[in-house]
Amino acid sequence: MHLRDFQQQIEALYGVRDRRRGTDATFRWLTEEVGELARALRSRDPQALREEISDVLAWTVSVATLMGVDTEAAISRYAEGCPKCGRNPCMCPEPPR
Ligand SMILES: [Zn+2]
Repeated sequence: MHLRDFQQQIEALYGVRDRRRGTDATFRWLTEEVGELARALRSRDPQALREEISDVLAWTVSVATLMGVDTEAAISRYAEGCPKCGRNPCMCPEPPR
């Protein structure tokens, strides 16, 4: 499945609800799903990881749709290399932690 097809599927599944809920509340759901992904990472359960990754992607795509962002067009900025330094692999300096 291409990302554009995924975005269309998520729109078909949840578009009405997402628009009714609005961008701010949909974004809050996305942040909750990121928290669930954090728990799945700690659990190291492959099934849970797969589910939480797909949920984070789905909620990200919902936010994109609500804001009129074509996700496949958006990710094309990574197609030729790092969007910042243009290299592949990225040669940007690591930010201090
Ligand atoms: Zn870079």
